[in-house]
Amino acid sequence: MENQIAIYMLHNYRTIPQTASLPAEMMRHIEVVGRVLPFKTNNYVVNQLIDWSDVEHDPIFTLNFPRREMLDKRHFATVDKMLSQGAGKKETDAVVEKIRLALNPNPAGQEHNVPWLGKIRLKGIQHKYPETVLFFPSQGQTCHAYCTFCFRWPQFSGISALKFAMKEADLFRSYLRIHHEVTDILFTGGDPMVMNSDMLSAYIEPLLSHEFTHIRSIRIGTKSLSYWPYRYLTDTDSDDIMRLFDKIISTGRNLSVQAHFNHPRELSTGTVRKAIARIRATGAQIRTQSPLLRHINDKPELWSEMWRTQVDLGCIPYYMFVARDTGAKPFFELPLERCWNIFRRAYRRVSGLCRTVRGPGMSDHAGKIQILGIQEVKGEKVFVLRFLQGRNPLWVDIPFFAQYDPHATWFNQLKPAFGEKKFFFEEHGTRRIDTKPFLFE
Ligand SMILES: *Cc1c(COP(=O)(O)O)cnc(C)c1O
Ligand code: SF4
Repeated sequence: MENQIAIYMLHNYRTIPQTASLPAEMMRHIEVVGRVLPFKTNNYVVNQLIDWSDVEHDPIFTLNFPRREMLDKRHFATVDKMLSQGAGKKETDAVVEKIRLALNPNPAGQEHNVPWLGKIRLKGIQHKYPETVLFFPSQGQTCHAYCTFCFRWPQFSGISALKFAMKEADLFRSYLRIHHEVTDILFTGGDPMVMNSDMLSAYIEPLLSHEFTHIRSIRIGTKSLSYWPYRYLTDTDSDDIMRLFDKIISTGRNLSVQAHFNHPRELSTGTVRKAIARIRATGAQIRTQSPLLRHINDKPELWSEMWRTQVDLGCIPYYMFVARDTGAKPFFELPLERCWNIFRRAYRRVSGLCRTVRGPGMSDHAGKIQILGIQEVKGEKVFVLRFLQGRNPLWVDIPFFAQYDPHATWFNQLKPAFGEKKFFFEEHGTRRIDTKPFLFE
């Protein structure tokens, strides 16, 4: 049945009827690259989102299925050779792990965001900006399907030392009891919506008690509306999920589903539209976000269409991100200049109701940096930037300038403009920022 999830990974993707039409070469690429990058898809994505008549160029196929170009040629050749020679699993795994570690599995210094409770390091939490805590419930460290560009991929590939998971919800609550500056909890993963309603309630309901009146918003970061909208309609606990949402809202809090949509096609099925309507009927808001990805959504028309459709459906466009420096980044990346051009060409086509979106933004070590534009100031071409969020909140919203660089694809490649030695938020005489988390007083 269509609304029963069937999961496909490396060991069984050949049972997908449509894969029979794939050229043998492409199957080989899936098997080689799929050893390194995360690979998982399901029957909804396969039957309702992918256009199998043109897989070579299909954005949703590229979103889910590993392709040769996603791996560097040398890495591809190494894994390809090992598989051809029938190398043992242990030997192959060791090589694969080495390659993964070379792909910057933990970008933007996320480890600096992991807070302490006395002497205990709270590995399931990231607290970077005072008002919002990210929580990674350990049962939510997977997704209904995997994106080939994912920067959370170490969490799925079993590099345990990098797992930001935490079973101890109690510790999380102890942390929140003494951090009254926190107003928002963002449940993230993986995808927290892979958890069943009991598990989700066990994490959320205690936060609705009088102890936590400072918690005003519960946010759930999820790709489930794209990858498995039946989650809100016909799964065995869909009704319980809706009751949990009702309950959150009945305490006077905001519930925001931070929905991850990469392409307008993900908004086109009757199923996703019903799911959006059902979530909205609880009073929850749906905010949308996506990275900008070459081969998937690198055209302004796709973004303007996506934002318009989202507004039609009652969703609020929220963020456009620059693709992170991890995994298959060379395949997906675009120069920052191109990112800004795509953003503004899309932004100028839509009404103010869509212009709640902010971007293009880079979640770098120092903060969330938005590219405001490219401008010439006294004869020098510069990027104009600002912090949407800063590791130090005092930095937020102050425009600053970097030398124009047509090739730069991430903030760390940019240099200060006007002959300055450092950006305003860097330590005197260095290009470093204070790596200690900002002290939340
Ligand atoms: C984006 C982000 C948040 C949330 O920021 P908002 O601007 O409130 O949406 C929180 N923590 C981290 C680490 C983030 O990257
Ligand atoms: S849904 Fe999010 S966490 Fe899951 S694979 Fe995609 S990008 Fe990664």
